[in-house]
Amino acid sequence: MARKNKVYIIDVTNRDGVQTAFIGLSKLQKTMLNFYLSEMGVYQSEIGFPALQHEWNYINANLKLADKGAMGTMRLQGWARAMVEDVQRAVKYTNIRILNLSISTSEIMTEGKFGGRLNREDILKMMTEAVACAKEAGIESIGVNAEDASRTEPYTKDRRYDEDYLIRFALAAKANGADRFRYCDTLGYDRTVSIYDSVKRIAEAVQMPIELHCHNDLGYAVANSVEGAMGALDAGVDAYINTTVNGMGERAGNADLVSVILALKKSRGMQDLDVLDEKIDLTKAWKVCSYAAMAFGQPIPINQVGVGRNAFAHESGIHADGMLKNRKNYELYSPDELGIEEHEIRPLGRIITTGEYGGIKGLKHVYQQLGVELENERDILRLVQYAALHNQKPLTNDELLFIAKYPEAVEQILTVDPRRVD
Ligand SMILES: [Zn+2]
Repeated sequence: MARKNKVYIIDVTNRDGVQTAFIGLSKLQKTMLNFYLSEMGVYQSEIGFPALQHEWNYINANLKLADKGAMGTMRLQGWARAMVEDVQRAVKYTNIRILNLSISTSEIMTEGKFGGRLNREDILKMMTEAVACAKEAGIESIGVNAEDASRTEPYTKDRRYDEDYLIRFALAAKANGADRFRYCDTLGYDRTVSIYDSVKRIAEAVQMPIELHCHNDLGYAVANSVEGAMGALDAGVDAYINTTVNGMGERAGNADLVSVILALKKSRGMQDLDVLDEKIDLTKAWKVCSYAAMAFGQPIPINQVGVGRNAFAHESGIHADGMLKNRKNYELYSPDELGIEEHEIRPLGRIITTGEYGGIKGLKHVYQQLGVELENERDILRLVQYAALHNQKPLTNDELLFIAKYPEAVEQILTVDPRRVD
């Protein structure tokens, strides 16, 4: 039976993914990722940090691109701490219109981060002031994140029973103008049963859409995201699952985008429930995953769900025999469903490339190979040189085409000025 309420995808690669130790993306790579996510029909991309100076040009340029229709229907959202100061910086320096505001709710984190200076009621006050400030500043859609929600115990540090703290937190956010509540399993601590129960209980009490933000420290990220979402649906509200491309994210990572989509479409009973946002186009999966792997410099693991090299490889006698008779013997889905046949193969042998130290002749040749006759070749050369400087990698065909199509946006994205502005 199809459900009225749906599960939407909010991808957080450009926020949680890039804040991960040892890996990162250039502003152009973040932009390309937004572009690919929009092609895939993702509901919303958490594009970065509007309170952070080096994100401003990138964020404003991406918002302009979205206004021109370059990002389809995908919403672009910023992440900030639930503090008035961060909200003020975000609205002063960027045109961001959708914000998620984050604050810790667990005793262990509030104790650890605020040195015992703030109790639960102080956290509520900080959060509601930040939400009210965002609302007043004209932010159109606000999500409120309870960081470490799963470890937010039902009692205070002086052992007073306070089971409804997360509900009070979400209701206070709603009363001040928030539209969504993000339940963060920040340490990947929940189990499928516990997250289902917690989310259902909160959703029933607050009747607002719930976001699931699950980490993978115990290998539960995808399962917890899906079961948490089912808790929200069973309480009669929409669910939004936070994903990252290839599961990139802090420590053991976040819920992997492709795994979540496949689980929502293909796992036992899900086909009949039909809960996934119908805009999702899984055939763009390979494009976004292979791009992210290249951009992060982190190869896709051989056994990665859906897009790993072995996801459709069969060797052992019984499996190969079974496959040859009927692929459904050993496959729940097929490579073409994930768009795996389409990928860019870099040519070998004699080849002209362009990049950080390239010149006009080479540039024109490269673009001719892509079927593009440049009019403003001096400007494009300058942008290509800077893009290669930022990426420190050969530019992909899509990046080169993007630069030629949106030179003004690319110029803004590539402009990073470290001088202090306030
Ligand atoms: Zn996270």
